[in-house]
Amino acid sequence: MLFVASEVAPFAKTGGLADVAAALPRALARRGHEVRVVMPGYDSIGAGGHEPIPGEPDMLGFDLGPNRIAADIEQLDLDGVAVTLVDVPSLYRRGSLYTEDPDENLRFAVLGKAALELCRRWGWSPNVVHCNDWQTGLIPLQLRTTYRDDPVLEGARSVFTIHNLAYQGVFDAATIDSLGLAEHRHLFREGSLEKGRLGFLETGLVHADVITTVSSTYAREILTPEYGCGLDDLLRERSGVLFGILNGIDTDVWNPTTDLHLAHRYSKKSLWRKEWNKRDLLEGLGLEYLERTPVFGLVSRLVSQKGIDLIPRPMAGVLEATDARFVALGSGEPEVESGLGWLVDRFPGQARFVSGYDETLSHRIEASIDGFLMPSRYEPSGLNQMYSLAYGTPPLVRRTGGLADTVEHWDPDTALGTGFLFEHADEGGVRWALEEALSAWGDRSGWRNLQRNGMAVDNSWDRSAGAYEDLYLTLGEVDS
Ligand code: ADP
Repeated sequence: MLFVASEVAPFAKTGGLADVAAALPRALARRGHEVRVVMPGYDSIGAGGHEPIPGEPDMLGFDLGPNRIAADIEQLDLDGVAVTLVDVPSLYRRGSLYTEDPDENLRFAVLGKAALELCRRWGWSPNVVHCNDWQTGLIPLQLRTTYRDDPVLEGARSVFTIHNLAYQGVFDAATIDSLGLAEHRHLFREGSLEKGRLGFLETGLVHADVITTVSSTYAREILTPEYGCGLDDLLRERSGVLFGILNGIDTDVWNPTTDLHLAHRYSKKSLWRKEWNKRDLLEGLGLEYLERTPVFGLVSRLVSQKGIDLIPRPMAGVLEATDARFVALGSGEPEVESGLGWLVDRFPGQARFVSGYDETLSHRIEASIDGFLMPSRYEPSGLNQMYSLAYGTPPLVRRTGGLADTVEHWDPDTALGTGFLFEHADEGGVRWALEEALSAWGDRSGWRNLQRNGMAVDNSWDRSAGAYEDLYLTLGEVDS
């Protein structure tokens, strides 16, 4: 199986895609499949201290329309899975993974073509080429055209996974010529061409043999105009081959009993140690620690999707009325950041906002706080709520996408449930969930049950990898 992605943790990451691109190939490899991963050779990978496996220098050259591409090929090791870096300095040394530069289309068209050319170079015939998000959107079309009769790739079927439908890679239709795809113009979606546009994601959805997305609920939601981001009609046409497979969590990385980011590791049986992490976190951030006082918090990209702008006002009500604390980590849109800044200014002794990206702090927050907030307007899968469950940190989430599939509302009468689910992406929804959580917090043994219920849920990748394996099997034999 060939897995192509624009980000793979820990080498390059902006969000959940990177976690999936690291965990799924490893889980499939553990199940005995031959898996290779291909990603861009960003400058940040070396800067982050990730050294390629030493070996003879290797080059890959190919044409993409009028562009002659010369890539240095390097390999990294991901627990025994080979990750091949396509290093084209003029394209991938930009200081960030994604750009607004005019050649963004070329940057990722090169990734897709390089991945297929590498298979030819290796003489390796994957049965499945697993594509992820818009950056890999041209691959299914290329498999059906340029590589249809290629002796190495003729048997390869494509799986296209939507991690987030909102990011579509839409460019001017002139891209078709500039990438040398003019002879295939009729294979691009007419409606978009008429508007002078070419969508990479859209093209992937048209030509993939199978489409998946990262939760069952999101797979249903994206068939509607409300969640379809303008592609719901195409997705309805292809709904016969659209499947929802929930993401898993990488339990080697996100596991409170072994997490090296934590000073105090803990399990379901030693949950009191979580309290020590909480004290360290608060004191480290300059907030006073009080016993029996709940801490709410979040780690998130601060974009409108995540609904973080809905938090400051209801949270202000809670901080006003109680000694509760609030801790946030994230970066993104200035308005969202300033909303969190407003909360901190009003409650300097109770609230902190750390602007930025910090892997260690994200683990410490998950381990330390009492309620994790995810009021997402939409959420294809969401990973943080699953991390929260594993860390005994009940999530407060909106009932949408993967959040709806992973969190069950707490019922104090039956002692069933793992967190707090609210219906509407508005401040009233957040306020209601906070009130529910505070009321549950008041019952100490009930709260312990709530935490343990979440920790008992198996969201490991093994379960999800099995579902992908079944899907690949329906496409033909799986590499082994
Ligand atoms: P998305 O992919 O939409 O950002 P997910 O919940 O699926 O949302 O995954 C987000 C991932 O990115 C998680 O692993 C989360 O911990 C991480 N993350 C997001 N923002 C930050 C940050 N500021 N610092 C550290 N990790 C972050």
